Amino acid sequence: MSPKNYDNDELIFLPEESISDTPRASLQGAWNILVVDDDEEIHSITRLALSDLVVSNRSLNFIHVHSGKEALATIEKMRSSIAIILLDVVMESDDAGLVVARTMREELNILEPRIILRTGQPGYAPEEQVIKDYDINDYKTKTELTRSKLVTAIIASIRSYQQILSINQSRLGLRQIIKSAANLMEEHSVRNFCEGVVTQISSLLGLEAGGVVCAKAGSVLDIEDDDIYVLGAAGEFAVYINKKLENLHNDRIVSSVNLCLEQKQHIFEPNFSVLYLHSSDYEAAVYLEQGHKINRADRELLEVFLSSVSVGYENVNLFHQLRTAAFKDWLTKLPNRSEFINMLDESSQTDLRNQDLVVALVDINHFADINDGLGQDVGNCALVAVTERLQTTLTEDTKIGRIGADIFGVIGSETLINPETINQVFVTPFKVAEHTLPLAASIGICRLNDNNCPGIDLLKQSNIALNRAKKNLNSNFEYYAPEMEQQTTWRLEMIRKLSADFQARKLELWYQPQVDLVTEQIVGMEALLRWPSETGTYISPAVFVPLAEYSGLIIDIGSWVIEESCRHLAKLNEIGHQGLRMAINISMPQFRDPNFIPSVKQHITEFGLEPDRVELEITESVVMDEPQIVIEALQELKRFGVKVAIDDFGTGFSSMSYLQKLPLDRLKVDRAFVNEITPGKSAFIVETIVTLGNKLGLSTIAEGVEKREQASYMLKLGCDEAQGYLFAKPMPFEQLTDLLYQSS
Ligand code: C2E
Ligand code: CA
Ligand code: CA
Repeated sequence: MSPKNYDNDELIFLPEESISDTPRASLQGAWNILVVDDDEEIHSITRLALSDLVVSNRSLNFIHVHSGKEALATIEKMRSSIAIILLDVVMESDDAGLVVARTMREELNILEPRIILRTGQPGYAPEEQVIKDYDINDYKTKTELTRSKLVTAIIASIRSYQQILSINQSRLGLRQIIKSAANLMEEHSVRNFCEGVVTQISSLLGLEAGGVVCAKAGSVLDIEDDDIYVLGAAGEFAVYINKKLENLHNDRIVSSVNLCLEQKQHIFEPNFSVLYLHSSDYEAAVYLEQGHKINRADRELLEVFLSSVSVGYENVNLFHQLRTAAFKDWLTKLPNRSEFINMLDESSQTDLRNQDLVVALVDINHFADINDGLGQDVGNCALVAVTERLQTTLTEDTKIGRIGADIFGVIGSETLINPETINQVFVTPFKVAEHTLPLAASIGICRLNDNNCPGIDLLKQSNIALNRAKKNLNSNFEYYAPEMEQQTTWRLEMIRKLSADFQARKLELWYQPQVDLVTEQIVGMEALLRWPSETGTYISPAVFVPLAEYSGLIIDIGSWVIEESCRHLAKLNEIGHQGLRMAINISMPQFRDPNFIPSVKQHITEFGLEPDRVELEITESVVMDEPQIVIEALQELKRFGVKVAIDDFGTGFSSMSYLQKLPLDRLKVDRAFVNEITPGKSAFIVETIVTLGNKLGLSTIAEGVEKREQASYMLKLGCDEAQGYLFAKPMPFEQLTDLLYQSS
């Protein structure tokens, strides 16, 4: 007897060979039925009994699991897409099924799927309370399950599942409309509103939420813009939000929305509809896709809904706000990120090559500190103040937008938009409420004519440049170059190798002697890092120290440098070379490390050194970066007895005010200036620096002294010490001890 011939009410719990083991393909739109039972036979029988069933034009898709544990895993994965769970009560434990029901309802909070409980024995009926608490639809003993009873239970449960889903969906739609009306002025709420409209309509029509709301900016706006934009969308269409209609690359949407707005009427097609939405001044179109043509009853329902939405639009003059809110930043009234991308698209498309267009991102440094320290209101005022300053400093031909909390975007010709002009904006502090705030910015710039690519990519590229600019120690800007993206890979690889080699103790510390210019005796040395490469050469610290700073590795490496150099200085004392000074380079990230000061003190004490024999070298840019942290740290170390030298002096932008606040002992004249010393000429800068040093009561040391005449000149100027190839190159520690031995 074939199973299909069973009479409706015949018991179906009979052995059956003809049941196919191959799982039914999951049909699109089929109802998911999760069968949970430890008895394989029940699975076969259920599948067999329900195999031909079609409910509301959709067939059934069975998922089979054999324990409570498996069931929960599946439920957690599929969540509300499961329509019905046929759930055995007794499996791995007496109440495994009830545990599944409880966990799912109470812990996972999955409420939509309907549950039909089944037990083998009539005695295992759960209490009524359980059925109520876990929202269980039906309860059957297995022997009760005839085909017709099972079918009835399934149909009833699917109906209730369908109702629950649609109620939830429309509740969601309503909630979104209400929520978005409340905070319409924020950019995302326009999206919420439109998404709400689409969701609500979909729900009215019993569709899955998906579609777009399009509108013409029209005459309401100050700007002239007759283009149609996607203001909001739901479902798979969400990617279209804020795009111009004509740029959607979806012919059906573009042509049908245009047609709807031209004809000023709804379009109902078998697979899609476009609803016309209008008030006295503004019009919009809502595009939806559906599996079947919308019937009369549904159209009437829609009319009611659409008219109320239209009234809503009219009342609040919504379209104006929609458009401005979608494309304008509410605080500064500048174009927001979306609009800025549109502007970039246009700038890169129009043939303006001879104008040398660039886009610059201007990121306010430490803006979060203002918000945290002085409050968000002050932060907001500061942003408005920056906006005004940008608008007045940069000419009318530039376009400005606010593309992030504290990031502005500027498009304009390179002669107008460059680091100098932008930095000009930040020269004078900003007056905000009762505060006067000095602000600084980092700048990432990208040239448009190099690329001719979409706005979004231009934004990405300038962002890469901006991130690079933020990491720069010597300048606050960076121009995008395609190599940057490759460099990123290269840098990461180098950082990885550096980290590994440092762990493997492969880094070396070399020393370069420093001499007294009068006696030419060695008075000290500078510790310089060396990184041996596989090929036997050394990678320059000028290359890898910035990478170590960038990655934070410099904190550990720097701490090792301090320990190692102190150890070696102690060793030198031990073998009879007393009174030498050890100069150690310190980077900015080390100052931010709370362990830095204690560890410097600890190493000095541990190796029994006189603190004043240790000198920290810091560059001007380190001081300028975060003066307060550095000044305080140096003052504390200074009290401990450590000396401080300012490195590469003359190359940074130290202001005298900082210089005077720093507890300095020595100026190191940068080698670039020493290099300028040529016979018969006066080297103005070097002279100024040495004079300045003397006036401030500081010692001076010339670096990079390669030629005899440079040494003589420096001596004549009154410079105290020198360091350079003329006297000695950097060398390993053993070599240094040899040299000291010979010269003593
Ligand atoms: P720096 O502190 O300005 O170090 C002086 C650099 O000038 C050294 O380069 C040294 O080898 C080089 N030099 C010395 N005399 C002469 C000369 O007569 N002619 C020429 N052309 N060059 C000379 P090096 O060793 O490649 O170090 C480069 C930079 O790396 C250093 O510049 C310093 O900023 C950084 N660095 C090195 N070691 C460390 C370290 O332990 N910690 C930190 N934070 N930075 C380090
Ligand atoms: Ca140095
Ligand atoms: Ca130097």
